[in-house]
Amino acid sequence: MPTASDLEQLLRGSALRVTRPRVAVLAAVHRHPHADTDALIGAVRADLGEVSHQAVYDILRALTAAGLVRRIQPSGSVARYEARVGDNHHHVVCRSCGVIADVDCAVGDTPCLTADDDHGFVIDEAEVVYWGHCPSCTTTSP
Ligand SMILES: [Zn+2]
Ligand SMILES: [Zn+2]
Repeated sequence: MPTASDLEQLLRGSALRVTRPRVAVLAAVHRHPHADTDALIGAVRADLGEVSHQAVYDILRALTAAGLVRRIQPSGSVARYEARVGDNHHHVVCRSCGVIADVDCAVGDTPCLTADDDHGFVIDEAEVVYWGHCPSCTTTSP
């Protein structure tokens, strides 16, 4: 887990002013990968006391725009946030309970970025979502 000064460094490196709420939101995203906004608000409040929903939303938007957090939104799910950015990893989502896990790129480095036909685009991200059932849902359903 990054320390508070690591997080401050990340904010400064992205030209974001260091504020306690920003550090707390960034810390919460590091501590709770794939958490939704409500869970993050809960974590930030446990840390800082009262912080408005709007403040947390605004900070998440700024952190996402700065590339410090990644926003993912599997269909049927609310937006989730994670601090693992820039490695083009993918996600596997349980159809039953909605739990999300990280999946590295299918083979080797980032082959998913080498599209069969890129239509002339310069591609920097491939969003792949694997769907299935997580181990605890597989064992409880007949
Ligand atoms: Zn499940
Ligand atoms: Zn992830």
